[in-house]
Amino acid sequence: MCRATITQKEIYALFGNPVGHSLSPLMHRTAYEAMGIEALYVPFCVRDIEAALRGIRGLDIRGVSVTLPFKTEVMAWLDSVDGAARAIGAVNTIVNRGGGLEGFNTDWSGLAEDLKECMEIEGKTFAVLGAGGAARAALYAIVREGGRPFVISRSREKGEALAGEFGCPWHPPAGSGRLDADCLINATPVGMAPAGEGMPLPDVDLSRFGWVVDLIYNPLKTKLLAEAQAAGCATRSGLGMFIHQGAQQIKLWTGLEAPRSLMREVVLEKLEADDRDKTHRKT
Ligand code: NAP
Repeated sequence: MCRATITQKEIYALFGNPVGHSLSPLMHRTAYEAMGIEALYVPFCVRDIEAALRGIRGLDIRGVSVTLPFKTEVMAWLDSVDGAARAIGAVNTIVNRGGGLEGFNTDWSGLAEDLKECMEIEGKTFAVLGAGGAARAALYAIVREGGRPFVISRSREKGEALAGEFGCPWHPPAGSGRLDADCLINATPVGMAPAGEGMPLPDVDLSRFGWVVDLIYNPLKTKLLAEAQAAGCATRSGLGMFIHQGAQQIKLWTGLEAPRSLMREVVLEKLEADDRDKTHRKT
């Protein structure tokens, strides 16, 4: 039995493996402090996801952010999964309502919110690069908002299956130099820190795309975004999506609006400091 003298803070958690690089703890802790919520946000490097999910009830954890590689696996252990998360096939947010675990996906809605800040989605064409979880969330967001996507992926089998699910065409990377779209979205990890520097779609004339969006936010300016800028495209990093998906998690857990500008500011500051460190170490 808990002693009445101990006031337990609300506990939120991140389940993934690895989690050491994640900026979610910084973003969430900053938000709770500013919102005056006495809460802990704890990253767990999970070894046994089933046991970890049982721990949510056992420890009365109010909400969990789920990251790689568990976004699909967790679905089997939840009491309910929201329709969008089911269609995407991935849960990135768990809400504990009195011991009942509910799954949601705020990756798609975070991306939709971010894209709508800078462009029209309805009626526009989108080339989505990749066939993993982020690509699924992007395709769901685009189709739901009335856009017309197609998939480019290195794996024909995965890419065709994914495109089939969302009722759109698939193209291999070879030959994609002839394709064009209003917006190209990189939903692969190519170009991400610490490996960095890679180009997810070499041999393509980026000026064929009005917008180039990279879902990666570390580094903020990937090689793809740098080359897209040089080619005259408008560009967007994954930072806005990251902030919006996190703020939407907080809304699901607490019912309250999170301080998005502040969250963005601290994450941006950390990314810029890391960038400066990297440049300093190179010189
Ligand atoms: P994932 O499920 O592992 O899928 C990765 C996809 O990229 C797979 O289709 C994979 O192809 C493809 N890929 C990997 N390496 C490649 C390469 N060298 N060349 C071509 N394709 C390659 O990962 P995810 O969850 O979708 O995440 C993808 C990216 O989105 C990550 O960088 C992640 O940080 C970012 N993301 C950002 C946010 C945000 O809030 N901004 C949220 C979610 C994800 P195969 O299937 O053939 O292996």
